Amino acid sequence: MGIRQDLAFKFCLIVATLFILFAGSLYYYSDSYRVMMFDLRMKNKGANIATTLVDINPADSSLLRTINVKTKSAMFDVGVYIFDTNNKLLYNYTNDTISSKIKKEVLKIEKKSDIKFNVGKNEAIGFYYSVRGKSFKIIVSAYDKYGKENLIHLKMILLLSILLSIVVSYFAGLLFSGYALQPIMKIINDVDEINVSKLNIRLHESNQNDEIAKLSVTFNKMLDRLERGFEMQRSFISNASHELRTPLTSMNGHIEVTLKKERSTREYIELLNSLLDDIKSLNKISNNLLDLALVAADINVLQLKNIRVDEVLFAVRERLMKYFPSCKVSLNFVSFPTDEKSLIILGNEQLIESVFFNLMENACKYSVNNAVEVLFTVNDERIELSFKDNGIGIPASEISKIGEPFYRATNVKDMTGNGLGLSLTKKIMELHHGSVKITSEENVGTTVKVLFPIQGNFN
Ligand code: ADP
Repeated sequence: MGIRQDLAFKFCLIVATLFILFAGSLYYYSDSYRVMMFDLRMKNKGANIATTLVDINPADSSLLRTINVKTKSAMFDVGVYIFDTNNKLLYNYTNDTISSKIKKEVLKIEKKSDIKFNVGKNEAIGFYYSVRGKSFKIIVSAYDKYGKENLIHLKMILLLSILLSIVVSYFAGLLFSGYALQPIMKIINDVDEINVSKLNIRLHESNQNDEIAKLSVTFNKMLDRLERGFEMQRSFISNASHELRTPLTSMNGHIEVTLKKERSTREYIELLNSLLDDIKSLNKISNNLLDLALVAADINVLQLKNIRVDEVLFAVRERLMKYFPSCKVSLNFVSFPTDEKSLIILGNEQLIESVFFNLMENACKYSVNNAVEVLFTVNDERIELSFKDNGIGIPASEISKIGEPFYRATNVKDMTGNGLGLSLTKKIMELHHGSVKITSEENVGTTVKVLFPIQGNFN
């Protein structure tokens, strides 16, 4: 069942329930009213006869009977039985034999409360009545023909109305739900148009401040994010393949040129050195790409452990010196904690090493003397590491773009690099709830500061 039919069905159910409740109570109160009025009429009839009986000579009671029976009345099949307080029958309206039921019921009549019972299809009421010092027990029975016929009519009308209201409310529900769901149908049709190659399509946002308008706005925001994500992914892939192709093309070119004729040993050594540089570059790109894939994973998937930051720093310095022998790294502990636990962070060792390696390598690479100074500060709140160099710096207008994947400042010229290191650093630091701050002045130097929050509970 579609939402439209479902809504119409529920609407119909509510209307039908209300209508049945209304019809039921109307019928119930009409019947109660009929019974009340009929009882009153029967009591009046009994009381009138009893009063007349007191006024006339008892010998004339058969005359009274004749007058009463011949008098036209709206009541049918009437029976009036008047007894004295000792249950002795004084008057019988039709003079028919008195039924055993009446004889039994009359015993139940008390001064204070009336009794009600049925005699066949007739209703009967018994009551105590006193007039001019005389008391009687009276039973009146009759058939309320008109009242019951009216009630049957009412029942038919109410049943028909219920049926009609169910049919009408179902179709009205279909109509209204169709009208209410129209904007959603439009959204469904619009969304159907959107696919990977048409991510620029947006849903119409109406001016109304209703839920449908909010749905369109939220959906459009999600499309914005998706489009940006797809765009970033697209440019990332094209940049990555470009970066991978460059050293491969260079290797290919060098080998082809060298193979054109026989070369001297010195020339072969030169070729091998150039190939080694290209391989190093390829190796670095693939390592960075692998790290980026790792960073893209959820922090919970990464293997985290307690890491002593100073120890990682020493290990990375060793590795860098082997890879980049001309690099000079000086470590300066500005403030060292008394409690060594403050040097420990919870993180992924491979990624933290990657941060330190990239920052030290950059400082060496982009400084004239290949020197980097690392300042190490620990206070109550965080661990700070500043990687400082006196190098080419970064042009002020470009600092905001540094850290975007594959972005390289214009002043690096033909220095080797791929523009992935800093973007990776930023992501890794985010993942470890830390941050990165770059301050730089062109031709003066650069300081890249990374901050790790101190973590409370280490075992
Ligand atoms: P790569 O160094 O491989 O180009 P990075 O992502 O590490 O890539 O750095 C991005 C860019 O930021 C570099 O190309 C360079 O322009 C600039 N940069 C980073 N560190 C320094 C530094 N210490 N001194 C000057 N420029 C830097």
